[in-house]
Amino acid sequence: MSAITMRDLTKVYPNGVRALDALDLEIADGEFFALLGPSGCGKTTLLRTIAGLEVASGGDVHIGDRAVTNLPPGKRDVAMVFQDYALFPHMTVQENIAYPLRIKKMDRRGRAEKAAETADELGLSALLQRRPGQLSGGQQQRVALARAMACHPQVFLLDEPLSNLDARLRLEARTFLKRLQRELGVTTVFVTHDQAEALALADRIAVMEGGRIRQVGTPTEVFRRPANTFVAGFIGSTPMNLIDAEAQDGELAVAGTRLPMPEDVRDRVSAGEKLVYGVRPEYLDYSAEPVPGALSGQVVVVENLGSFSLVSLDVAGGDVAGAAGTSVQVVVPEGREPEPGDTGWVVPRPGRSLLYR
Ligand code: ATP
Repeated sequence: MSAITMRDLTKVYPNGVRALDALDLEIADGEFFALLGPSGCGKTTLLRTIAGLEVASGGDVHIGDRAVTNLPPGKRDVAMVFQDYALFPHMTVQENIAYPLRIKKMDRRGRAEKAAETADELGLSALLQRRPGQLSGGQQQRVALARAMACHPQVFLLDEPLSNLDARLRLEARTFLKRLQRELGVTTVFVTHDQAEALALADRIAVMEGGRIRQVGTPTEVFRRPANTFVAGFIGSTPMNLIDAEAQDGELAVAGTRLPMPEDVRDRVSAGEKLVYGVRPEYLDYSAEPVPGALSGQVVVVENLGSFSLVSLDVAGGDVAGAAGTSVQVVVPEGREPEPGDTGWVVPRPGRSLLYR
């Protein structure tokens, strides 16, 4: 069993920065788990604290049933792949892969066999005698993965594993990494600031902000039901529209129109309560004609994104006291785009909007 459990985990750097703030998290055995969040939220610190490269200021880390909080990295049975791969430039691919086995005092023949076997699994057999400087970025990444795999660790820790690859190679490496993780079934934690990468790869995602976890869930859960406006604004290739709203007479006043109050919150919202109404650009339908229950406004920007356009409209603050006019984005299919300056109407699809306090 190699579940990872963190309780009350805190890391304060000597300069006073609280990079992890009393964080609780459980990562299941065999899970492919993403740590996602903006720059500086503490992702790398959390990964390094699991690895033992940073000493926690408080709280504890368990791997399986072993308390590892006070163990040095070499005793934790984890392997970390760094963002820049950290390969030894003077060693061949074979020597790089075999290096951890040498540290573990495996004999020369055993090392060569194991390195060849791992290289074979990762499609590196033809490159064993090359040095890292003679490899492409994608090949270097595979060598770093092979070096991590050679020891059969209980846990893989990957720091921004795809960030050094160009866009095309990144897609290829994504598929490769996902297949490899499935085949090996090793508990794997990876850091990324790219929400699309986290959604595409992970079984579950922890979204972090300021050393804390704002939500943990499957890609579908964090995309469909973000727990708060921070996660709502962070997940999705186009950010969710977040619009000031107010509960009025059992309905929702949003940007100059009245929408039905979603059933699931009807009993919990009091009259006059200020709320934030959230709906993704993909879940709004654009119309060039007036439609009941639509938000209306003037088209200001039309961005052509290939098979669809992202249209921004300025809608009125409407009957929400104190609400300013706001910009709403809507995805419009190819061929149906309006022109800037047009008046347009957008209708939320039923069951696709969210309310935040
Ligand atoms: P990025 O995506 O930019 O790598 P991150 O989410 O991985 O960011 P961390 O690198 O974990 O964030 O940093 C969390 C906070 O701790 C930041 O405010 C950072 O400046 C600070 N920090 C990180 N390492 C150190 C250090 N060695 N000494 C002092 N402060 C640090």
